[in-house]
Amino acid sequence: MLDLRFIREETETVKENCHLRRIEADVDRLVELAARRAEQTTTLQDLQRQQNEVAKKTGKAKDPEERKGFVEEGKRLKAEAAAAEEDNRKLGEEIAAIQRVIPNLTHPDVPPEEDAVLREVGTKPNFDFKPLDHVELCDRHRLANFEAGAKVAGADFYYLTGDGALLQMALVQYAMKKLVGEGFTPVITPDLARDQVVAGTGFTPRGPETQIYAIEETDLCLVATAEITLAGMYRDEIITATDLPIQMAGLSHCFRTEAGAAGRATRGLYRVHQFTKVEMFAFTLPEESDAMHQRLLKVEEEIFQGLNVPYRVLDIAANDLGGPAYRKFDLEAWMPGRGDGGEYGEVTSTSNCTDYQARRLNIRFKTPGQKGTTFVHMLNGTAVAAGRAMIAVLENNQQADGTIRVPEALVPFMGKDVIGSPA
Ligand code: AMP
Repeated sequence: MLDLRFIREETETVKENCHLRRIEADVDRLVELAARRAEQTTTLQDLQRQQNEVAKKTGKAKDPEERKGFVEEGKRLKAEAAAAEEDNRKLGEEIAAIQRVIPNLTHPDVPPEEDAVLREVGTKPNFDFKPLDHVELCDRHRLANFEAGAKVAGADFYYLTGDGALLQMALVQYAMKKLVGEGFTPVITPDLARDQVVAGTGFTPRGPETQIYAIEETDLCLVATAEITLAGMYRDEIITATDLPIQMAGLSHCFRTEAGAAGRATRGLYRVHQFTKVEMFAFTLPEESDAMHQRLLKVEEEIFQGLNVPYRVLDIAANDLGGPAYRKFDLEAWMPGRGDGGEYGEVTSTSNCTDYQARRLNIRFKTPGQKGTTFVHMLNGTAVAAGRAMIAVLENNQQADGTIRVPEALVPFMGKDVIGSPA
């Protein structure tokens, strides 16, 4: 979230930014409430000061009548202070509720309304046969079992089987190996997180609109991404500046209700309720987050280049950035079996969330020898979301004889260079 003082001082900038991002937040009301709370805090402090004075006078009073008077006054002040404190608490809650809705500021280069295509990389395959889509390829080579997934867990669940299971594990190991080489620490995170951590990262833990599965009668949710658990790992911590940047590669399952996704392309592995993902996460000094964002994007591109998958890079428009991101780049891979004659489909997303999540999760850094602390900048990026990466690999590397070429980078992890036998 944004700093309250900043919102009060730069109200017009904040309102324009909400407008740009198509997010409705009652900024004026927040400013009014914050002013009211500031006044009330002064009143409360005054009441507390008076209470202390009266308590001292009560202790010193010799005359019983005089003492009784002070006791009465003390009680009255106590009741007034308690009421003021309660009002103050309620105001604080109302302020925080509006503050949570206000989005992060926006990088000046972000396109306002339409995603900008920054570049297209790789050559789309030119098949001399009609390419199959990934569901047909999975059926043909028994790589996934969607019927069993639906029977056991419901629609949009699946089993990966045989080479399908091997391919997912190969993608995870390939991504992890790449990230270790780039200086990321591999981390296997919990798949559950507390409501507070989920909210601190910018997701809505509970409610009808949420993408999050919450577990009833607990304060736990299934994570939608390891971004949540990696961010939460440093909650309430002060990092020494010289330890920055911290770069982690988190492996987790991701669970999404996909509420409101009905009607959008959901076939096969594309939009499912559970998938496996390797997520990059970084904590940086504020002045280094833009460069780290470019670095995360570069790693994503290199991963997909290594998989022999053509892709394009999008600079996501302001009205589609959501709350926490200051800037976001997506990679869309070419998926030859999608739509009528192939379509691009999102495979990765990397966001610079600057200090937006850090302020909610209270994650700071301290420079040795200097006074005070500052909020860190936090960034995330998909290295490999297994389901979508599998679609891209399978569909782009299919061959006329029905087999699928395993990209060279995956061969050591798959232990084979082709999936399936010729038809
Ligand atoms: P996000 O955290 O929403 O930016 O998603 C990160 C990546 O996860 C996306 O770029 C997709 O590759 C993948 N992804 C997101 N939602 C789903 C889903 N419901 N099913 C499969 N993959 C998904």
